[in-house]
Amino acid sequence: MPEASLSPEHQNGDPAQPASRQGVSRLAPSPTGALHLGNARTFLLNWALARRGGWSLVFRIEDLDGPRIKPGAAQAIADTLHWLGIEWDTHPLGTAANNALVQSTDLSPYREAMERLASRAAAYPSDLTRAQIEAAASAPQEGVSEVVFPASLRPPVGPRGFDLPESNWRFVTPPGTVGFDDAFAGRQVVDPASSIGDFVIWTKRGTPAYQLAVVVDDHRQQVSEIVRGDDLLPSAGRQLLLYRALGLGPEPRYTHVPLVVGADGRRLAKRHGDSRIDYYRSRGVRRERIIGLVAWWSGLLPSRQELSPDDLVAAVDLTLVPRTPAVFTPEDDAWLTR
Ligand code: GLU
Repeated sequence: MPEASLSPEHQNGDPAQPASRQGVSRLAPSPTGALHLGNARTFLLNWALARRGGWSLVFRIEDLDGPRIKPGAAQAIADTLHWLGIEWDTHPLGTAANNALVQSTDLSPYREAMERLASRAAAYPSDLTRAQIEAAASAPQEGVSEVVFPASLRPPVGPRGFDLPESNWRFVTPPGTVGFDDAFAGRQVVDPASSIGDFVIWTKRGTPAYQLAVVVDDHRQQVSEIVRGDDLLPSAGRQLLLYRALGLGPEPRYTHVPLVVGADGRRLAKRHGDSRIDYYRSRGVRRERIIGLVAWWSGLLPSRQELSPDDLVAAVDLTLVPRTPAVFTPEDDAWLTR
């Protein structure tokens, strides 16, 4: 990989000139299932923005979510990405197989981060159950799938060792707001202390939770440009707090793009029929059709037309991407398979 020189202009909020940016971005799939039109759109946009912006691109397999990980899915995702024309760079932490950093192969960087947080009184073990936390929360949290961990449940926390790796550990979320400039979603000001409270950063399975692992890895892979679905927008504030508590920098720039939904407005899933890329591939659909559909959804084409990977790079422009979710309709499916 061309060694990225991460200059101070990558600091969050600095109006760096796009033409002079030299960034590093990443594709970070969780191998929990096959690539479908929704995550393929995000990856295609990420790849095209990286090519367009002259950023290098690294590949990471986020396989720490034990029960949801599917054997073979990581390789299948890499194969499907290649078929779509998406390539990435080598990286010193990458494996021989796909130049991928595979999170489960070495937990020591995450343990070191936990040591640092625990020694700074920024993390503590807590085995309270969801029911106990819900019972302590002041008001019912309707429609919220995450449980807010109220500060009242936080025990006294002092500097300590990371001595109970078979417990859940929570982050001491500091009070106050976190602001950042999202390259697509615009200025964001979030309040993690009230919207989530002390969130889990290490699980009793003995593995880091997503929020911690992603920060440790984005830092050690020198990632400066994070492009991902806007379902993760609420995570960005938590991740910035972890960068700060760990003393890591420069902080990345975030680009959160809308997801793809079905005609019912719900996030693309099995209930909308088979939208896996491999399904279309097995039916003889050319990748140019999938890329063209993605480009049309993204405001980059006036109508559904075939588009090559190189032409997507030439066309990609975040200012054209609609602010609302892309909708996968039966007409899209009919056009793909026509
Ligand atoms: N692995 C996560 C996912 O597939 C993405 C994490 C990220 O981009 O920060 O949803």
